[in-house]
Amino acid sequence: MAKGASWSRREFVGTAISTAAAGALPIHSLLGAPTGALADGSTANWKDEGVLFVDKSPYAKLRNVPVHAVTITEGFWGARREINVNSSIPSMEKLLEANGRMDNFLRLVGKSDAPQKGPVYSDSDVYKWTEAVGFALQSGDRPELRALTEKIIKEVVAVQEPSGYLNTYYVGDKAKMRMEPDVQRWGHEMYNLGHMMQGAIAYYRATGDTTLLDACRRFVDGYLLPNFGPGADKKPIFSGHPEMEMGLIELYRTTGEKKYLDFAGYFLQGDDRIKFPKRAYVYHFCGIPFTSRTHLEGHAVRAMYACCGATDYYMETGDTTYLKTLNTLWEDLVTSQMYVTGGVGARSDGEAFGDSYELPNFTAYGESCAAIGNMMWNWRMLTATGEAKYADVIERALYNGINSGMSLDGTLYCYRNPLGFDPSGGDHIRNPWYDTTCCPPNLERTFASLPGYFYSTSKDGVYVHLYDNSVLDWHLEDGTGLKITQKTKYPWDGGVEIGVSPAKATDFTFYVRIPGWSNGTQVTVNGKAVSGATAGQYLALTRKWAAGDVVGLRFGMAPQVLEANRRVVDDFGRVAVQRGPLVYCLEQVDQPAGTVLFDVALDLRPNAPGKFHEEMKSDLLGGIVVLKHVGAAYEKPSEGGALYKPYAAASAAQDRAVELTMIPYYAWANRASTQMQVWTPVIRA
Ligand SMILES: [Zn+2]
Repeated sequence: MAKGASWSRREFVGTAISTAAAGALPIHSLLGAPTGALADGSTANWKDEGVLFVDKSPYAKLRNVPVHAVTITEGFWGARREINVNSSIPSMEKLLEANGRMDNFLRLVGKSDAPQKGPVYSDSDVYKWTEAVGFALQSGDRPELRALTEKIIKEVVAVQEPSGYLNTYYVGDKAKMRMEPDVQRWGHEMYNLGHMMQGAIAYYRATGDTTLLDACRRFVDGYLLPNFGPGADKKPIFSGHPEMEMGLIELYRTTGEKKYLDFAGYFLQGDDRIKFPKRAYVYHFCGIPFTSRTHLEGHAVRAMYACCGATDYYMETGDTTYLKTLNTLWEDLVTSQMYVTGGVGARSDGEAFGDSYELPNFTAYGESCAAIGNMMWNWRMLTATGEAKYADVIERALYNGINSGMSLDGTLYCYRNPLGFDPSGGDHIRNPWYDTTCCPPNLERTFASLPGYFYSTSKDGVYVHLYDNSVLDWHLEDGTGLKITQKTKYPWDGGVEIGVSPAKATDFTFYVRIPGWSNGTQVTVNGKAVSGATAGQYLALTRKWAAGDVVGLRFGMAPQVLEANRRVVDDFGRVAVQRGPLVYCLEQVDQPAGTVLFDVALDLRPNAPGKFHEEMKSDLLGGIVVLKHVGAAYEKPSEGGALYKPYAAASAAQDRAVELTMIPYYAWANRASTQMQVWTPVIRA
């Protein structure tokens, strides 16, 4: 940290507050402090920094809107977010305590006798939870939650060593192992610190409290930068689990100190002074130049977080070799590596990407964290480019492969998110706690931060990316106040009414996202039809907007039947059904008695008795639209039949009609444990 007269006020207060001598200074004295001075002499309003603070990022096309500027009211995400903040976040804190995550800190200052608990990355659970709280508080103060988090932050910071090192695992006998090459590979020291930064920044943007943020800076400034990095006098670093990269770049954006950006660039470049077997560079997705990569491989969360960091780096530096690599990897993702749910990571073995088109359903890994990483990466690509194809991936992942990760009551979590399931093997798909509990607080921080993903601004106007009942109270980049109100029953209904009210009549462009799945979208402005809506693009509505203007949207919500590329062998001969942004599935529990889920097929023949019948069921699974379909059940059950037999062309005469009921995938496994599948065979007779 800088010394003497060059200290900014925020640095001074932050340092003062984090020293024992100033312990009596109440932290809430910082609340309300309007600005923070950056090292470059400019100021930033910490309250108005979004999920990402890219207002000064030269290669970001869009700016983020702060979380507090968007209020999500009653509706699909409103209900989910209420459960998140009232149930998930508080219950997770109790679980963190009960499972020794805070004892790990307290033990080091003599306040607990409990032994160390949890894996090497256990500190990150606390930081990710802190980040969830930080985002939740950006939507409105919750004094009890804030007080609890202040206490936890104090307990964390209390164990920071004079060198700046802060980690509860590599202490005592293990202290000598710190930053050894194998510990860098598996020990998650940098991963923990990356999450500490993200938690610290989200909390700072909510409260102005820099206690945890200053601790991050002491770790980097005091322990890492003097001893590690490029240069013969410093030791090399292998990132191990990418995460630190995006943490450092957000720290750069928050403080204006370029050394953090440069350090992130060093991580992304890799340091060949550390030699590991080739498989390490595949699995860990770091250690070699990011720009040398051509394929998503290895541990899926690591790969997604590396892509996030690399996109952040591009937005700051404009290095086109990064953009080229990111485009190559993104094409790899969407053409051969992503599930229809937006989930990624096909293999349980190594929680890894598979080969191209290797997308099994029952054994799909699809870790909740990996789907979140996918959303975070696409948010960065969208921010960099303004291209709607990234928003399509965000929506797909958010509504499906991420949303499935938390139970409807907000207390049970999926680690895996398979697309087919048979509970007879004894697998419990939703659990309150995992010893590796990366996913639950990751889901919580995502839902808490969601308002920050609805809109962006650009030099020429404002973009809307996501639809739900909400109010934006913000301004155009020229400072003109702007209120945007959405009224909708999305995702159940395709109609959205958007009130656009600038503080004074102003020329600007309102970019309206037309989802890639929407056929026949209708758009009106003040009741008059507007042409040009194209699925998978933003429709640019350029005019002089004035208070009271209304944009009407009607998206095509007819259920769509999707087939996979033939090379996805697990989906061959099968289809998935999507309605609006929601992917649907069949659960055994909804099907007529005597119908075995794995012995049914959809009947999509031209003379079939009607494809899908929609029914709003407000009392089922929190209120959902179910899809009914008269399909077919094979007369001969598959169970107990011969494993192999002579081929016989399918005949409709062998089938009986059966009414099948489909529910949105995200809502599966919220009732009795039951079979489930997303991809269902079709009668091809
Ligand atoms: Zn996880």
